[in-house]
Amino acid sequence: MTVDVDVAIVGGGPAGTCTALHLVRSEGVAPSRVAVLEKATHPRDKPCAGAVSAWGLASLAALGVPLDVPYAEMRGLRVLAASLVGAHEHPLGVVVRRCEFDGSLWKRAVADGIVAFDGEPLVALARTAGGWTLQTSKRTVTTRLLAACDGVGSAVRKLVGIRETARKGHLYVAETPQVRGDLGPRDGLCDFDLRVADAGVEGYYWDFPTVVDGAPAVSRGIYHANFSARRDLKQDLLASLAARGIRAGSVRLKPFSTRPLVRGAPLRFDRLALVGEAAGIDATTGEGIAQAILTAGIAARHLARALRTGDTSLEGYAAEVLSSRVGRHMLQSAWLARRVYGRRGSGWRAFLAGNTHAREAGARWYAGKPLGWALKARLGIRLAASLALE
Ligand SMILES: Cc1cc2nc3c(=O)[nH]c(=O)nc-3n(C[C@H](O)[C@H](O)[C@H](O)COP(=O)(O)OP(=O)(O)OC[C@H]3O[C@@H](n4cnc5c(N)ncnc54)[C@H](O)[C@@H]3O)c2cc1C
Repeated sequence: MTVDVDVAIVGGGPAGTCTALHLVRSEGVAPSRVAVLEKATHPRDKPCAGAVSAWGLASLAALGVPLDVPYAEMRGLRVLAASLVGAHEHPLGVVVRRCEFDGSLWKRAVADGIVAFDGEPLVALARTAGGWTLQTSKRTVTTRLLAACDGVGSAVRKLVGIRETARKGHLYVAETPQVRGDLGPRDGLCDFDLRVADAGVEGYYWDFPTVVDGAPAVSRGIYHANFSARRDLKQDLLASLAARGIRAGSVRLKPFSTRPLVRGAPLRFDRLALVGEAAGIDATTGEGIAQAILTAGIAARHLARALRTGDTSLEGYAAEVLSSRVGRHMLQSAWLARRVYGRRGSGWRAFLAGNTHAREAGARWYAGKPLGWALKARLGIRLAASLALE
């Protein structure tokens, strides 16, 4: 079986389905000329805490995609560092379960008439004069343009031979019922526990409110940015769980990884755009759902332009991602992660937990809102003073 399209999208997660939906709904590309190929069968599970920040939801709403799956609201955050606990209320977004969220986006792509094949991994890829030939487990797809939306393990990157520009982050995730100590999640707040960084983790432990089968629950896990290798991350997580009275045997834990977006990361080649986590995500939080949704909109614009003009370099895509708010946010995040989780990060962590402006800025930043000059100025002065006192 051979299918010919203008844009083939590998990966049916948020980056893939949103690139397809943007191409059709915002750029006027015929749905029959766009194909999404997904390795798993939807609704498929995706190891993830499921926190979708507010700017990702706003982008979906603008695309005409309402949130139609169960969710828990993130009403704000609490930051824990050393003996400090600081909270800030500000709508951050929602926590969803990925099988439901991604399955719903997939259904919308199918309903729009986009050519959507799930249960079909990409297994081979060849460059041709006019584009690409893709081989899945079931068929051949020929295309003029290719979007790699296949996440952290990107088969496209491997098949094309695209190098990694940074070490991948490491995570563990688990969902459990609420326990008595879940003060943040009970109030709809996301707990970012930076105390694990004092034990050498380059990241944080989290407790986020979530909903499992209609009941309030907590998504928990640990993120290590992995600037330096750490073999005992699981032990760090188990220690944090034990501190909350959760026994090791009651949760199944598997390690996962994330690809950070760093300066110099490749985003495009001739006729090929890397989108979502195939390109890279936020290095401070390890989060990438909203980032995938937002970069998908930029990618669709440039893929559609390439179809119209015949200029298939996609250079403008890389430039626009890096200069967009989401791109600048991810580059700032790569810079910030080294400060907050670095060897001299205790001052930064205390500042985040102990300073009201820092928490406000953190919450606005997380939700993708501009900080404004007044808050930036207050933040700069207080941070400088706080670090000078260290
Ligand atoms: C433990 C953990 C917790 C996380 N928590 C959060 C969080 O709370 N909030 C947040 O924003 N981010 C979180 N992330 C990151 C987030 O999951 C990803 O950044 C996000 O899913 C990226 O979306 P994507 O569409 O680019 O990639 P993905 O969602 O990974 O989708 C890629 C798709 O490509 C498919 N695919 C792979 N190979 C092939 C192939 N050969 N052929 C066809 N299809 C293929 C995969 O099956 C998958 O469906 C977490 C990550 C982990 C590991």
